[in-house]
Amino acid sequence: MISLNQEYLKLRGSYLFSEIAKRVSAYQAEHPDSDVIRLGIGDVTQPLAPSIIKALHGAVDEMSKAETFRGYAPDGGYDFLREAIVREDYRKRGCNIDPSEIFISDGAKSDSGSIQEIFARDNVVAVCDPVYPVYVDTNVMAGRAGHYDETAGKWSNILTLPCNSDNGFIPEIPKVKADLIYLCFPNNPTGEAITKSELQKWVDYANMTGAVIIYDGAYEAYITEEDVPHSIYECKDAENCAIELRSFSKNAGFTGLRLGYTVIPRALAREGVAVRDLWARRHGTKYNGAPYIVQRAGEAVYSPEGMKEVREQIDYYMRNASYISNSLKKAGLSVYGGVNSPYIWLRTPNNMSGWNFFDLLLKEANVVGTPGEGFGKCGANCFRLTAFNNYENTVKAVERITKVIM
Ligand code: PLP
Repeated sequence: MISLNQEYLKLRGSYLFSEIAKRVSAYQAEHPDSDVIRLGIGDVTQPLAPSIIKALHGAVDEMSKAETFRGYAPDGGYDFLREAIVREDYRKRGCNIDPSEIFISDGAKSDSGSIQEIFARDNVVAVCDPVYPVYVDTNVMAGRAGHYDETAGKWSNILTLPCNSDNGFIPEIPKVKADLIYLCFPNNPTGEAITKSELQKWVDYANMTGAVIIYDGAYEAYITEEDVPHSIYECKDAENCAIELRSFSKNAGFTGLRLGYTVIPRALAREGVAVRDLWARRHGTKYNGAPYIVQRAGEAVYSPEGMKEVREQIDYYMRNASYISNSLKKAGLSVYGGVNSPYIWLRTPNNMSGWNFFDLLLKEANVVGTPGEGFGKCGANCFRLTAFNNYENTVKAVERITKVIM
């Protein structure tokens, strides 16, 4: 009889958002008339911008004619998109990235989950705590995590880097060996960002030790402060140690369309091998490319009109973020994030557990958020709200939350 991959059996509980969905459905089944407002999962709500829709229609029409029909996409993505990315996301910021170092994909979730495959199993993985759960779970699946210690609340072979209000949510450089380091800034879930000088310390550490940093920049578009880098390649010598992940989900509303990319500079080599070449091999073997029509839509994000339109959407969400953050601060909560990110991270009132606060808000305010515990041990007694709902619902939700906690 076939046996199962035992590493998968080590995975803990159900995925965070499945548990939330289960609790919300159970509540709604019992209270069918309740007007539940969701500030939980990080999904956008604004429709795609007009220039993106126009590009999609144009590409669909191309697919209908033999002369312009496209089949399989090139492995790394179409040049028109890779060149637009290099021009707008890198050269304009002084980062010397070549289109051949960009790999177009269906989003940062799959890239952040798959990137570990090109590194050996005995590497030590380091993640922030709290953390986007995908980095941990995919390393559990790969057999790199060891066993889970319930009391310590962590995996025996994964190094966790605590991020809390004491260290400004910026992890400290580890004193022990770390090979594959996942950093995400602006951060999900804390919403806090890293300055260029702080990030430079990580780059210097990785270059000194030979570690590789996986830098998840899914929320780059939300950066508002000057000293926060938009790319890790703004740091000196980062091309020798860093892989950057980007997504079109949160800046341009592609959560349903699916598009992202990974950057691996040719200069990043280990054991005499360009890491880029391994990813190219993996990408070519396991992946057949984001759809042509979606890559055309991605190109439209970088057109002058597209950039203006998506900026308006980001500003819209950031208005929500400021509203949530300012109102809850006024209500007496300790609130973080929301300045360079659509996420607001707060300490629960009276040190309640995040799940108890979740249940309280669901029942008493009909508002859904995300319990901090779902992101790691250091997320205990914390809670995440997102700015992705519409303004009217955001205001309503904050009023209801305020009433419950006052
Ligand atoms: N990385 C982080 C930190 C995220 O929070 C998310 C989505 O919430 C993703 C990656 C996934 O992005 P995508 O929609 O491109 O797969």
